[in-house]
Amino acid sequence: MDSWSKQHIRQKTEPQNDARQYLQDDTGSAHIIEVLKINKSFGSTQVLKDITFYIRNNEFITLLGPSGCGKSTTLRILAGFEQPDSGDVFFNGQSLLRIPPYKRQVNTVFQRYALFPHLNVYDNIAFGLSIKKIAKDEIRSRIGQALKTVDLEGYADRWIDQLSGGQMQRVAIARAIVNKPKVLLLDEPLGALDLKMRKEMQIELKDMQRSLGITFVYVTHDQEEALTMSDTIIVMKEGRIQQIGTPTDIYNEPRNAFVADFIGESNIISGRMSDDYIVTFAGRTFTCIDKRFPDEDVDVVIRPEDIQMTSPTDNTINGVVTSVVFKGVHYEMLVASGTYEWMIQSTDRYEEGSAVGLTFDPEDIHVMAKSDDSPDRRKPDKPADGLNTEGVDNW
Ligand code: ADP
Ligand code: MG
Repeated sequence: MDSWSKQHIRQKTEPQNDARQYLQDDTGSAHIIEVLKINKSFGSTQVLKDITFYIRNNEFITLLGPSGCGKSTTLRILAGFEQPDSGDVFFNGQSLLRIPPYKRQVNTVFQRYALFPHLNVYDNIAFGLSIKKIAKDEIRSRIGQALKTVDLEGYADRWIDQLSGGQMQRVAIARAIVNKPKVLLLDEPLGALDLKMRKEMQIELKDMQRSLGITFVYVTHDQEEALTMSDTIIVMKEGRIQQIGTPTDIYNEPRNAFVADFIGESNIISGRMSDDYIVTFAGRTFTCIDKRFPDEDVDVVIRPEDIQMTSPTDNTINGVVTSVVFKGVHYEMLVASGTYEWMIQSTDRYEEGSAVGLTFDPEDIHVMAKSDDSPDRRKPDKPADGLNTEGVDNW
């Protein structure tokens, strides 16, 4: 089965009598969490719309989308800090909604670490365990193990204000994993770190998830972070799931123009598909690998790195280079052709003003159904509502 049909099975949206059919999984793997048709409004604003997905055991799954799309609200419902208006959440097949947060086998790591400045590292990590009346020896051994996992052995006696941002985040993670949760919820946990530390922590978190063997549900608005770390990515927009898939699926087979645009750079062009494997755009007809869609009008996506530049011929899309920027490894060039400006990434440099031809392989032409985010249907950007919904502010 190709990856495209797999995705469709994973996000069945057709009405079904048996609600569980929404959560069909062709791999047969165990689901630790199932979220079924969750709706949630704050006042008159619906912030989650029919959210349905499952989380496999030991999976690193990421909720990805722009600020305000409902990522934190979804996570807070899993944690039990927020109740949905309708829908259900199952943990190993049992509904979670009546279970209070402290009895759920989940722990949360926030963007701001919420550590106690008047306690040392050891006591910060011990805090939750002491409340649970766990024996002192057991606490000591668990904290030793947790400090080792987050690479902070020897820091037990340090005060919080003696730590760097990265170290504080490690303490916050240690405090969460010391409870031995089955699932760790992480809401933009690296958002406060500088780029270099963030990159290091991305790799460490991924290693930690593998060695601990626990399920991570990760929230970020950073597509690169999501692509680097995740087994599965759930792309959200305005309270709705747009696509669920592996990083490769999401990158190579974006389901609509929003996903294509949000995940990496892309050229998105309006096209027509009158038959299987034949698509017309940019005034030319191409062979592609997609079957005809119900609607003849489609969007076509071609990634900038999949386009080759040559001398113009009768068989190429021809245009003129309007901009050249060196990006370290490759050049990023814009080529104006008709009314469209193509972005191309290539290690070969073409001078501004030169006439070029563009070619690509049939498998690099990705055809998608039209949506609100199609280039010819996109509404002008809405004015900001003045609310900063980034990261921790709603927690
Ligand atoms: P994200 O984490 O993707 O940035 P959130 O889930 O935090 O998004 O928020 C989704 C929407 O719900 C936003 O418009 C936000 O302003 C709103 N929202 C979140 N929490 C509350 C709340 N407690 N009361 C009112 N509105 C809220
Ligand atoms: Mg958030």
